[in-house]
Amino acid sequence: MGEGPHPVCNGNCEPDESKLTFNAICENPVQAICQVSKGSGMLTDSFCSFDIDDESKAKYTPEGIKATCMSKLEQQRVLGMMEYRCRRNREPDCMQTQRMKSAEQLAQIERSKIYTPDRKKYFTKLFTRVKSKMISMIESSTRIPQKHKAMLTKKVSGVNPLFFDSDLPDCFNPTPEGHSLTIALQEDEGGESSSLVVCAGAMLNIEHTNPYALMHIIGHELAHTFDPCALDNETGKPNFFEEVFPQLIKCIRGGKGADGCTDAKVSCNSEAVKREFCETYRSVIPECEEYIKTIPNCPLYVEIDDSEIDPKHPFEHPRLHPTCQLEEAMPDFFGSEVLANIIEEDQKSGWSESLNRPLREMDKMDTLIAMSAFHTRLKEGACFMKNVPYSHPSGKVRVKDIIMSSPNFRKVVCGARAEEGKPESEERSCRGLL
Ligand SMILES: [Zn+2]
Repeated sequence: MGEGPHPVCNGNCEPDESKLTFNAICENPVQAICQVSKGSGMLTDSFCSFDIDDESKAKYTPEGIKATCMSKLEQQRVLGMMEYRCRRNREPDCMQTQRMKSAEQLAQIERSKIYTPDRKKYFTKLFTRVKSKMISMIESSTRIPQKHKAMLTKKVSGVNPLFFDSDLPDCFNPTPEGHSLTIALQEDEGGESSSLVVCAGAMLNIEHTNPYALMHIIGHELAHTFDPCALDNETGKPNFFEEVFPQLIKCIRGGKGADGCTDAKVSCNSEAVKREFCETYRSVIPECEEYIKTIPNCPLYVEIDDSEIDPKHPFEHPRLHPTCQLEEAMPDFFGSEVLANIIEEDQKSGWSESLNRPLREMDKMDTLIAMSAFHTRLKEGACFMKNVPYSHPSGKVRVKDIIMSSPNFRKVVCGARAEEGKPESEERSCRGLL
């Protein structure tokens, strides 16, 4: 298979007539998949298999059904023993008391079927690869000032995957709503290190997740340890990120003016959001205007109750205004740079460790589809081509304007396709880690 159309399937996994070409997806990934998926953002890969991303559906995959059945069987054995003991004791409410006492034991049985040693090993393998690649890119970088390198590598080295934490029961155990698909960074107590929390749904469906798309998520999360907002907060020096990666903020924002905020692709804090924020939090932060100057790269949130949001126009509330998106944009960008190097490595060696077979040309397209579908279906802006007033930009902006602004990512994944027929002025290229 080479340049021909991708055998895409729509949401019902029926072959779709409108042929999605590699060129179209490289041109504008989210737009292309949204056209073919008729606005749902759901699309399968070239094997006609889905990346599961619906919490309530995670348990209906063959792996999900197997995990539920196996844990039910084992839980039945435990409950059976309890029943036997209770019948002998003749205590009133014995079973209820026993059940409560054994809740954690029963939950642990369920977890053990989801967090199998094989899955944990596989995730850790992908994680370790992304982490070492990011560290080696920082170390060999010719653009990061030498004096800041140790700070960055220390942050990245301090992250490790976390497969259980009793403080987060809704992440590691299934809930009535389903299996959480979250993969997120959590600062450990004391703030010296962080953990990458992998929730039950993400683990259960790991075999159905495109490994490169998963590595992008891992890279994104690792990069949160040094995103522009994290560095503002930590160092107390506004715009410290600029010292570490000169010119990158402006490039990622993509707008005009000294700060790149005029007509930006990635939003800045608008005057309106600053006003709204300070009006809301004046009682808690009396020197609000001064305070927000110390964190210029952090998003300013104003809590709006979900019930106040009009589902037909979710991005148009009188108190919702463009907020700084760098905290999320920068990790997307760094994640794409690291991923590009990993794919390039697999291409050169002719073997994909994560797929356990040689890398095909079509795998790169599958990766871009999986990444786009993932970013498209996230709640802020499914198939929404404009940007949104939240800290996470819309799917289209995340893929086309941020991820694809890594020249190496474009080159490795799309080759000449990305540049074909495009006027020079439309190309966005930012220089990041290297
Ligand atoms: Zn993030």
